[in-house]
Amino acid sequence: MNPVWAMVLAIVAFFIVLRLRNRGKRRTVSREVFARRIEGFQVTGYLHPEMSNACLFDHGMQFGKGFRRKDGPELPHDENCRCTTIPFSFTSTEVFNGALRNIADIPGTLDGMTTDTSRMFLETLKRLASQPIPDSSDRFLEQSGLEGFPEKNREAIKAFLETRFEFLKEHPTAAGPTEKPKSEAPTEGEKSEIGESI
Ligand SMILES: [Zn+2]
Repeated sequence: MNPVWAMVLAIVAFFIVLRLRNRGKRRTVSREVFARRIEGFQVTGYLHPEMSNACLFDHGMQFGKGFRRKDGPELPHDENCRCTTIPFSFTSTEVFNGALRNIADIPGTLDGMTTDTSRMFLETLKRLASQPIPDSSDRFLEQSGLEGFPEKNREAIKAFLETRFEFLKEHPTAAGPTEKPKSEAPTEGEKSEIGESI
């Protein structure tokens, strides 16, 4: 072979090898950056007096590839459901600084509540959901611990709870499940096993 051609071939081969190696390096770097991001979805409920307990308990549920739950609940939960699923993507530093907790705020029909009050109200509704529905609206209000809420929100919360009480009385099926949130329900496989054993 002509020595000049051999040299040209050697140079071309050298650049091809160099290019391939660099490409490999770039891929490794981008994979590392990807791995450091936490990506998933969150169910965000909507506080309204006629929401079912399924919506109440599924609010804040996070799911996706890197989470214990790979799939979210089937939405809408029911005809009153106003839940949505929002995607999120955080770096590990943001997660460390509480980013996953901060997206758990719930919108709703009650205006003028601080984030803390809104969370407290959500917890109250969950607590009420785990108790049998009392006979009277007064008893329901008593159980809610209404006095513990800021005075400026109390009237609106009282009206919300009164409407909710009426709704739960008329729609006892929406009141369940109380023990387990819907997301903890048996999987299809488990269900069919239960079905067979009955
Ligand atoms: Zn829902």
